[in-house]
Amino acid sequence: MPAPTKIVCVGRNYADHAKELGNPMPKEPLIFLKPPSALIRDGEPIVLPGVSQRVEHEGEIAVVIGARLSRVSERQALEGVAGITCANDVTARDLQKSDGQWTRAKGFDTFCPVGPRVVPIGKLGDLGKLEVRCRVNGQERQHGRAADMAFPIPTVLSYISQVMTLEPGDLVLTGTPAGIGQLVAGDVVEVEIPQVGVLRNPVVSR
Ligand code: ZN
Repeated sequence: MPAPTKIVCVGRNYADHAKELGNPMPKEPLIFLKPPSALIRDGEPIVLPGVSQRVEHEGEIAVVIGARLSRVSERQALEGVAGITCANDVTARDLQKSDGQWTRAKGFDTFCPVGPRVVPIGKLGDLGKLEVRCRVNGQERQHGRAADMAFPIPTVLSYISQVMTLEPGDLVLTGTPAGIGQLVAGDVVEVEIPQVGVLRNPVVSR
């Protein structure tokens, strides 16, 4: 898979997560970017930056793009998907609030663990049946079902492709369910999609 040119994320795609942050649900997908420089693999450490007092996990279902998608319909969108993997949209929650926009809070080095492998969608069946769980030190914090997304995967991909061309290797993080919480040095955070496996990363301070 080529290196991604961008990582596109969806905010507030699960009603229970929007509610826990006191946010209304968006009327159309709310998208933002993470830089590819934030990427790390399974097993690599998430490094807490000294300027944030509250870094949180967001376990998510991630779509890996396999073919260029530009201004496609929902039906065409899935033809450009290489597969599905696990992702953690690590977020400096305090900076997300104080900055007013999200580039710094979402963009620190190591804030985008992805893996442990990409499973082709042909092997997954109905994407609406995917589930994602997030655990910290073995304790479950988040559990979401793709069926509960406000904007399903084909809708999200079609929507993004009207704005920017998705290239092979690009990643789309499809939003996080309720249960976000703080990470501290010494934690081990896991994101699991049963058909994909477990993405496991230790947390360290700088
Ligand atoms: Zn997220």
